[in-house]
Amino acid sequence: MKYQEVKNFINGEFSPCTNKRIDVDSPLTGEIISTVPLSTYSDVDKAVIAAKNAFPAWSGMTSKMRSQILYTYRQIVEQNVESLAAIIHEENGKTMDEAIAEVRKSIELTEFACSVPQIATGEVLEVSVGVECRSEFAPLGVVASINPFNFPHMVPHWTVPNAIALGNCIVMKPSELTPVTAMKMAEMLKQAGLPDGVFNIVNGAKEVVEAFCDHPDIKAVSFVGSTPVAQIVYRRATSNLKRCLALGGAKNHLIVLPDANLELSASDIAASMCGSAGQRCMAASVMIAVGNVNPIIDRLCLEASKFIPGVKMPPIISRQSRENLIKYINDAELKGAKLLVDGRKFGADDTADPNGYYLGPTIIDWRETDAKMPESEVFGPVFEIISAKSVEEALSIQHESPFGNAASAFTQNGAIAKMVAQNASAGMIGINIGVPVPREPFSFGGWNASKFGAGDITGRSSLGFWSQLKKVTSKWAKQEITDWMS
Ligand code: NAD
Repeated sequence: MKYQEVKNFINGEFSPCTNKRIDVDSPLTGEIISTVPLSTYSDVDKAVIAAKNAFPAWSGMTSKMRSQILYTYRQIVEQNVESLAAIIHEENGKTMDEAIAEVRKSIELTEFACSVPQIATGEVLEVSVGVECRSEFAPLGVVASINPFNFPHMVPHWTVPNAIALGNCIVMKPSELTPVTAMKMAEMLKQAGLPDGVFNIVNGAKEVVEAFCDHPDIKAVSFVGSTPVAQIVYRRATSNLKRCLALGGAKNHLIVLPDANLELSASDIAASMCGSAGQRCMAASVMIAVGNVNPIIDRLCLEASKFIPGVKMPPIISRQSRENLIKYINDAELKGAKLLVDGRKFGADDTADPNGYYLGPTIIDWRETDAKMPESEVFGPVFEIISAKSVEEALSIQHESPFGNAASAFTQNGAIAKMVAQNASAGMIGINIGVPVPREPFSFGGWNASKFGAGDITGRSSLGFWSQLKKVTSKWAKQEITDWMS
């Protein structure tokens, strides 16, 4: 095995776990690179006890003191971008360039958390003569973070830095498919001086998630993953009277008009559908072609074909996911959809390891069949094309989707772009951009079945999720200067 066996990280130590273990394989080659324990409620309990014990001292520090540790952590991550990216590349499969970009995004997220002392300052106002009201952000206590496989470093950085900057202690579960990167995160936080117990990792699958939702000492649960699991987690955590923010899956629609810039639109959409092999919740999924956009589609097919598996196109996370994608493509073909680019077969000149879980870019055209494109999320390098006669019709198609993560307009017409931005039912809108991820200090979060719970998971919006407001009203005035409201 290339990496040591994955361990839980509890109270500042990697702790051996005698539970059943499962293999972690690399999608690049199919080789087993490590094993991960399937932890139980009692492991979660140990981590929660450690976090609970660390909470009084950690929450008692000023937020400036806490942010100093995050500054140091940020520096350590910066010095280790390449080595972190190499692990992400190996266990998730994404290309080195994509993995480096992921770590860079984690750095940006940590920088935002470093700014918590500047932005989570609360308010103060003399509300009546001699009477002052002030509000402050108080931490919740022990909180939990559950993560998917597709960004093993960045998605944990959506939650952990902000949660701990605000004074919480956290228990985190990485995806059991990509748990190695998280161990490095623990090592680096410890190296930065984070006190023991503030950050803990419990590895595993469903049982750990259920324990997070049920444990009486966990106050808040964040989740990022597929919609069916997001719904289970949201229901279970809130039924136990916890706050919960659960981000789910996506099927992102791009409304494309004939006046869109041909080269830029085609290369942007190709990069969006193929980057990370389409395993991004912000990936371009569906083009709604308004009128004749065939020149853009032809160019898109050309651009997508440049994503050669094993060179620019990474593998799919698992053999099973690859099989599911192939089944989806086969079904679409059987229903009469046309395959403009067929990723099931790729050329002899590709350098992909035959044992890796590769699939080439695939473009499915539904425009000339009566069959309806399925509404389900596909989560792979599969892009679908449907059509609409007008922007209004395109918007109504987008509204029928159960999801609402992202939607984009590709046009040179500002009024149409604005109309799409105002009327699309999605949390993140792109204008001539295929991956409209808002950058800090803006927050990340979709609508509809792409997110359950109030507020967003990053940026300013997340501060409310990881804290509660304390309001202090005080009177230090002499009696003679106060009025009847004082
Ligand atoms: P997943 O839902 O299978 O797993 C997510 C987490 O839930 C993992 O830690 C997993 O161990 C756990 N889990 C899986 N099944 C469970 C169950 N039955 N009960 C309790 N816990 C369970 O998701 P994934 O395959 O790891 O990630 C891909 C999905 O995540 C896609 O649907 C993608 O769109 C979504 N995603 C969404 C966002 C967003 O911002 N909305 C971001 C990244 C990924």
